Amino acid sequence: MKGYQAYTLRNFREIPQVSQRLSEEELFDIEVVGNILPFKVNNYVADQLIDWENYREDPIFVLTFPQKGMLQPRHYEEMAQAIRSGARKPELRLIARKIRLELNPHPAGQLAHNVPSVGDVRLTGVQHKYRETMLFFPSQGQTCHAYCTFCFRWPQFVGMNELKFAMRDTELIIKYLRANPRVTDVLFTGGDPLIMKAKILSSYLDALVEARIPNLKTIRLGTKALSYWPQRFVTDEDADALLASFERVKKAGIHLAFMAHFNHPQELRTEMAAEAIRRIRNSGAIIRTQSPIMRNINDNAGVWAEMWQKQVELGCVPYYMFIARDTGAQHYFAVELERAWRIFRQAYQRVSGIARTVRGPSMSAGPGKVQVLGVSEVAGEKVFVLQFLQGRNPDWVSRPFFAQYDPRAIWLDGLRPAFGRKEFFFEREYPLARRQQPVAEPAM
Ligand SMILES: *Cc1c(COP(=O)(O)O)cnc(C)c1O
Ligand code: SF4
Repeated sequence: MKGYQAYTLRNFREIPQVSQRLSEEELFDIEVVGNILPFKVNNYVADQLIDWENYREDPIFVLTFPQKGMLQPRHYEEMAQAIRSGARKPELRLIARKIRLELNPHPAGQLAHNVPSVGDVRLTGVQHKYRETMLFFPSQGQTCHAYCTFCFRWPQFVGMNELKFAMRDTELIIKYLRANPRVTDVLFTGGDPLIMKAKILSSYLDALVEARIPNLKTIRLGTKALSYWPQRFVTDEDADALLASFERVKKAGIHLAFMAHFNHPQELRTEMAAEAIRRIRNSGAIIRTQSPIMRNINDNAGVWAEMWQKQVELGCVPYYMFIARDTGAQHYFAVELERAWRIFRQAYQRVSGIARTVRGPSMSAGPGKVQVLGVSEVAGEKVFVLQFLQGRNPDWVSRPFFAQYDPRAIWLDGLRPAFGRKEFFFEREYPLARRQQPVAEPAM
């Protein structure tokens, strides 16, 4: 990647803006947190996306640089003590591992539930949870151009290798697709599949296209490269080859959809990002956009309205607003369900119908994607109105259901059924494991 310079825990002090502006204490905090949660940033993010004049409040700084508040104080202290006392690498790794295991590294039962098989072979690089869409984790796409501090895939970036999903076998995938004709979509995910060289990504895409699987209608690429390294589509040596491979998918009559991850309008302001979007759209692909709502980054209706508006201007289609997942530094990023819904609603009201293709706020939970439709009163009881946008059982989708109102709730497993019921309607098939969840810190 031409001109790409990555920074991690090892060399982040060499970032000019970091060495000029951050105090020793702030540098130490990054080291403490960065030993536990993933940390990688690059020169484009540092030079063009972060406003260093106000870096402490800058959303892209918080998105990419570890912050002290991301750890519970006891976890912070434990790691800080070890570093101060000069502990060696292996000891730091042990402490990090122990703490990570307390951060719910596998939310939504990903490991146990969703790995399918062809005959006796388990497809370890595939997740198939919703009938129509299969997720594919190509083994060369399991990293990113920079890391998001809130990433729910964080375990795989910090070397919890036994937990990694990945594979490189297209033959098995093609077999699986033929055996499961209800699957219409294959979603390449990671990490970021756009970290792959054009040659490798196109070998996967071409294999799928050439297999002429009648049920395969859409190939999706889940990516944050438009935000973290838009050069991927413009100036990288193989950018043209990459775009040509997108065109081949389109020419074969398969819809190509980018599921582009943007968290803040600041990521859309550079000419490089705009040019990357233009080039992808010219290849015939459609760009849909999605983001979680995160405290300290984008928990503000104006930010969302501006982001959706800007996306539409650039020809993208707003798709999902997610709620912060129950993993990693959730206590730092969590926005209460009620507040997330209010922000969604205010932002949605401010944009024209063209941008109201977006749906949310939605929790990607064990049983499915659950949308918070709002807070209401039914038969004298204050309730959350919810519905599935996707369900492990497709029959659950688009059926309103009700939970007791709880202003502090931040996730599905903290909700109780309304009207004195013992369980939600789907729990006969898929019981929720209700866990003690961290409470969000008060909004600022
Ligand atoms: C969100 C998601 C999908 C895709 O769902 P759509 O609503 O079709 O975009 C597929 N699989 C998993 C596991 C998901 O979380
Ligand atoms: S780009 Fe996606 S996979 Fe990579 S760190 Fe961010 S959220 Fe995680």
